[in-house]
Amino acid sequence: MNCTSTGILLALSLSLILPGQASAQAMPPRGMVEVGNGVYAATGYASNNMGFIVTSEGVVVIDTGMTPEIGREFLADIRKQTDQPIRYVIFTHYHYDHVDGASAFQAPGTQFVAQENLVSNLKTLKGLERVNQTVLGSASEAPAVYPDITYRESTTLTIGGREIQLFHAQGETNDATLVWLPQDRVVFIGDLNNANLGSPVMPEGYPEGLIAAVNLIGSLAPKTLVPGHGRIQETTLESLQALSTVTANLMVQVRQSVGSGNDLEATMAAVAMPAEFRTDPLLAATFEACREPYVNRLFKNYTGYYGSNPVQFRPAPARERSALLAELAGGNARLLATAGRLASEGQYQLALEILDIVTTNEPGNREARLAREQAFTALARSGKDLNWYHRAAYFNAARKEEALAGLP
Ligand SMILES: [Zn+2]
Repeated sequence: MNCTSTGILLALSLSLILPGQASAQAMPPRGMVEVGNGVYAATGYASNNMGFIVTSEGVVVIDTGMTPEIGREFLADIRKQTDQPIRYVIFTHYHYDHVDGASAFQAPGTQFVAQENLVSNLKTLKGLERVNQTVLGSASEAPAVYPDITYRESTTLTIGGREIQLFHAQGETNDATLVWLPQDRVVFIGDLNNANLGSPVMPEGYPEGLIAAVNLIGSLAPKTLVPGHGRIQETTLESLQALSTVTANLMVQVRQSVGSGNDLEATMAAVAMPAEFRTDPLLAATFEACREPYVNRLFKNYTGYYGSNPVQFRPAPARERSALLAELAGGNARLLATAGRLASEGQYQLALEILDIVTTNEPGNREARLAREQAFTALARSGKDLNWYHRAAYFNAARKEEALAGLP
């Protein structure tokens, strides 16, 4: 796993918060679960789940893992079940943790299948997704594998007397594929159950599409849903319906707040759990998991890039502001002392905001770098309700500060 840094491993082992669970959830153990006749869900290969279907005319694979190494391990485990050739590899969406293992499956006679938006996403967003991977501490350089077969709304693969129906869906991304096996009443849903409404560092997130996708899945009346992350049994029609209900509610609340002129901070404070959710544990937990990332996403979707405070339209250069603030405070040493006091009181966010001034003035200030490392580490270890992206980003920010401070 040499493409995967310790950062991402720790991030992944920390937690993955999904709708339906208010608390941090551990990655499921590695293993294969037969969820239908010759239909397997594969869990525990780093963060995400994959799947495969064994037919008399070959194997159909669903997602490939986050690195070529994981792809090879997954393929080796498939080979323990069957020596049939891999005929199709279906991508549930373009995110690297689902497609970067694809090169392990490239072989004559193997065709890659995806919804057509995946092609442009790979072309235009793959470079941007390095940012995502930087946040998570990984920088996989896996080559992009483009699909041989694309479809727009839906298509059916027929192999070995088995029908595999693919439906376009949106939610986290605009290129999601639902893989529906009508004979087994199993549906692979990719990352539709993601509580982030898209990666926080990517231009994505489709709330209306998510609601439509949940309705579509409900209309299929599946017996088993296989999510792209987390334990299989914890994603159900009920948990998806709760996600849909919460999404609709948050859209209304954020629109109302934005419409009344609130900025993001005021919107974050104003959006509250409706009384009728409090008596329903699933809705309450889903609301808690989704509130912060959804408010962030929806606010930016509804306001555009200018925001609501004209003072911030064209901010003064950070260096000028930081130099002035240090002068007013009596120097960087005074700011450092204040940051130290704030950290000792557990006020890590405020401490970091003060330290930002110091490191903008003096990027090589080792004391400030070490103080930032400690504050980021403290934040990464704080509250169980912390979004896992934020936890991973704090953890990896701490590693960067260590490097900048010259620690081994
Ligand atoms: Zn995803």
